Formats: sequence, structure tokens, C-alpha cells
Amino acid sequence: MAAFRALLDLCKRRGFLYQSAEIYGGLRGAYDYGPLGVELKKNILNSWWQRHVYWRDDMVGLDTSILTPHPVLKASGHVDEFTDLLVDCILTKERFRPDKAPTLEIMPAKEGQGILGRIPVEAPDKATAKTWQQLIQEQISPGIRTTLEGKRIMLHVDAFVQPDAEGQGGRIDFVSNQEHGKPISLDYHGYVEPNSNSPFLTASRPFNLMFKTFLDPIDPIDRVIQTTIQEQENKKGPIAIREAVDQVLKPSTVYLRPETAQGVFINFEQVTRTMNKRPPFGIAQVGKSFRNEIRLEHGIFRTPEFEQLELEYFIPPWESSHWFKYWREQRFKWWLEHACHKENFRQRDHEKHEMAHYASACTDVEYKYPWGWGEVEGVAHRGNYDLTQHIKNSAAAFEVIEEEARVSSPLIQADDCLIPTEKPVRYVPHVIESSCGLNRTMLAYLCDAFHQVSEGNNKPPRSILRLHPRLAPVKCAVMPLTGKPEFMPLAESIAKSLRRRGWFTMVEAQKLKIGKRYYRHDEIGTPWCVTVDYQSLEDETVTIRDRDTGNQERIHWRDVKRFIGDQLME
Ligand code: ATP
Repeated sequence: MAAFRALLDLCKRRGFLYQSAEIYGGLRGAYDYGPLGVELKKNILNSWWQRHVYWRDDMVGLDTSILTPHPVLKASGHVDEFTDLLVDCILTKERFRPDKAPTLEIMPAKEGQGILGRIPVEAPDKATAKTWQQLIQEQISPGIRTTLEGKRIMLHVDAFVQPDAEGQGGRIDFVSNQEHGKPISLDYHGYVEPNSNSPFLTASRPFNLMFKTFLDPIDPIDRVIQTTIQEQENKKGPIAIREAVDQVLKPSTVYLRPETAQGVFINFEQVTRTMNKRPPFGIAQVGKSFRNEIRLEHGIFRTPEFEQLELEYFIPPWESSHWFKYWREQRFKWWLEHACHKENFRQRDHEKHEMAHYASACTDVEYKYPWGWGEVEGVAHRGNYDLTQHIKNSAAAFEVIEEEARVSSPLIQADDCLIPTEKPVRYVPHVIESSCGLNRTMLAYLCDAFHQVSEGNNKPPRSILRLHPRLAPVKCAVMPLTGKPEFMPLAESIAKSLRRRGWFTMVEAQKLKIGKRYYRHDEIGTPWCVTVDYQSLEDETVTIRDRDTGNQERIHWRDVKRFIGDQLME
């Protein structure tokens, strides 16, 4: 994790990532992408779009609205089902997903760290309070005195509550009054089942992750107040009031989409018609999605606002197993193409119980982050669930009619699929989905690329980002050897020729030694540095230095463009 912290520090220091609204104290879980972050993100997106849209003739793009009306997400099941289980920690007042609840360690705090205090633990009733008191007494040690005040248990401790390094919270250090300095430990592994007798975590309850908002010229709070007052005058109870409020707000309710996919499904018919497409073909969409996550974690790994790269590939049902295998492979190939350490990427097939009820197969792509394996993408066989739901709940007709008996594509093994014999065949297309988080991808590739190189002699290590050249934010840094003005015209000409190719190029004319300037560019992953020196003034050649090997070649300045272009194509 020390290396991860060094990487986060680099990201901030060198303009990849900033805390959003930092000058106002920041907003938890919200990040702004700096000049280099925005390039890295764009390069990942471009590589994805190029391979999956431009290099194929069976894929088209789409960009649909973030604001999504209630009926769409009701039909897709998100309004009722897009929930995670939530537990609350009574002591820290934090919220956890049960499977993500931290291990609570109760340990002696260092001298002077703890604050002498009484921690109240509220139980639902007196009987439970008694059971909890007993539990605390048994598990924490007799060193912590507890007293009972009705349904409240008081822990008499020196307590120091300290968030962990990522600000995730969840670690509580206790010092008992009597046993100062002696380890007292209590581990809460994983999570607490509903109805358990835990003194710290409540029973779990479902929590919908969607952000709801209202398209309404009248402030919805005013509508709520008005309706509540009216219903109270009619002597209605809280349940009836809640129902009345829901009814009043329903027509203006919209959601920030929790995935980009639904926008694709509801436009299926329009795309097939306007682009004259028939399955098998796909629709690609890149855009922001929003989830009110119970826990935000590991920087940009889990945030409320994030971007997704999604492919929905529509197929006749009898070809679905072929296409699932195909996309599972294609997508993993893409991941490995940009990786330094391929062993840190893996595919994990879902067990049946992990899949959504409508999915018949799902594979996650996972990356081994410093804290463990984490999902970066899901490839799922969603069947025809989504299109069928929208057919049922709207005026849409998403069926495809095959007039001819279909001849299976040469790509498809005959034993993989059922070729229909009767004609015409009418079907609702099945869908293979690849859903990849852009921000998590960026984090995975940053972790993968981050290397610290020892400099010896007790010097701090220097950092190199060995990003794939196609992903590197700055493609080339052009450096006049010294600050002498005669180097500048050639440096500017080289930079101009590279910029015209659409490559982010920087001219580094500071008075730093050339080696230092190289290292500064190694740190941000610039694959090539071009130096204009005295010889350049005589024969128009320059040196081009490779980030990963440190090797330098001398080439004509006009060949720099081709040199870089060739390597980017590799
Ligand atoms: P997780 O289990 O980590 O919550 P998920 O299975 O809910 O992820 P999907 O619904 O499959 O995620 O979304 C597809 C992809 O979108 C994920 O693989 C991930 O890369 C990305 N993603 C999902 N939620 C977030 C988030 N809150 N922040 C950043 N990226 C996210």
C-alpha cells in the first residue's frame, strides 16, 4: 500500500487527479481529472472505441441521455432491484455493505492518543441491551467497564477513533482504563448476519443505489410539505402520507442512470432502422453513470459518479454461446494488449448464485490492485431480458424477423449453435454485454505501470510510469539541450509536426539538466524524449530517448513523426 500511496501522490502532484472542490474542503468520492488524467482517460477510451467500433463493420456508437425517466428503470428492474445490502455501524455511524464491513480491531492506543470517554451503544430494547452487555464483557475483556442505562450500554474507555489511510474508517482503537498499554483485541471478521447479536452493526437492509431527482419547476420539497400538511389535516398516518407524497412526486421523478446500457436497449429499434443493421451487430456507448454507493473506496475505484465503456452485442438466440465466448476472449485480449504485468489480470467466471436472474453466463475481468483482486469489467450473457421488458412495458416492437433460414456465419462452429430450420423465424435478440469502468481501468493501468527504481546511496527511489505508449498522456517531450535560443526553432518545428498528428507533445525548455527533465517525463509515462543539441544545428539530426530502456538513437528530425507513428501502431 505504500507504493499505492506514492502513486496517488504522483497523480496529484503531476496533474492526473485532483480532489474535487478541494479549495472548499473537497467532496468525498468526487475527483477531477487534471490535464494528464484527462489525456490518459481519453487514450483508453480511444483505444477501446477504435478496436470495437472503427475497426469493425458490425458496431455503431450511441450517446444517450443521463436523465432517465422512471418507467424505463421500472421496466428494467432497477427501481425495485438495484439494491445493495446495507448495515450501519452504531459506534462509528458509518455505512457498510455487509460483505465489505471492516474487521474491527480493538487494540491499545498509544499513550496520549486516546481520549477518556464513555461510548454509548444503543440497543433496540432492554433485553437486547443486556445480551450485548454480556457479549461486550466477554469479548472485549473485563478491562472495559460497562454499565447499563435502560436500553443503552455505556462503555467506559479511553477511545481513539482513527480512519485508515484511505479515509475508509473502520478501525477503532480502545484503551481500557485499567489495562493501559496491554493488548486487548476483538476481531469482527467480515460482516454480521441480520438478527445477530452484534453490538456494533445493525441488521442489514436493502438500499437502492440510484440517484433520484425531479424534473419539476416547483421545488419538490415544497410539494412534499404541502402534501404532508394536507394529509395531516385529513388525519392520515405516516404510511398514507408517504404514499400520497410518492404519488405527487412520481410524474416528475427521473434518475441519473446507473448504467449506460438501458439507453442502448430503448433505442434498439431506432438504430436498426436508421443504420440498417440486423443481428449480429453491436452498439457501443461511453458515458457517465451514477450510483449512490454505500461505501466509496480506494480513490477512483468506487465513486458515485463514473464512466462506463459499454458494448451491447445483439445476436440471434441460437448463436449466443458462440458470441459470449467470442466477446469474453476479445475483451481480455484488449486488456492484455496494454498491460505490463499480464499475470495481474485475470478472468473470473461467475457462479450461478452471483448472476442476475436473467443472465445465463457472466465473466468478470479482474485486476490485482494493491488491496487485492477487484472487478474492472463484466462480460455477461443477458439473454433477451432487457428488450423483452421494454416490449412489455412500452409501445416498442423489438422483434426481428428472419425471412430466410439463417445460414450460420463461417465463424460459428455448427455444434455451438442451433440453426433454425423453419422460416420465417421471429425472435427477440439476445444480448452479450461488456461493461467496463473507465475510471477503474485508468486506475488499474496506473497501478500496472507504476514502477519505483532504486537510485542507491540512500536516495529516494524515482518513479517511472511504464504506460503503454498508446495510453501515455504525453507522447513526446521535445527538449532543447540548453536554454540557448538557437535550439528553439527546431524544437518548435518538431513539436508542431507531432501535434498535427494529434499527439500531445510538450516542449521542455526549463533550465533543468537534461537528465532531470528526462526523469520528470519518465514519471508521467512519456515514452519518448527528443533532444535538440549542437549536432542538430549542423546536420538536422536529434536524439530520441526511449523511456523504458533509456537508450537513445540519433535520427533526422523529420523522421521523428514516422518513428513514433510506427511504434504506436505496433
Ligand atoms: P461492483 O461489484 O464492484 O460494485 P458491479 O458488479 O456492480 O461492480 P457492474 O454493474 O457490472 O459493476 O458495472 C460494470 C463496471 O462499471 C464495473 O466492472 C466497474 O468497472 C464499473 N463500476 C461499477 N460501479 C462503479 C463505481 N461505483 N465506481 C467506479 N466504477 C464502477
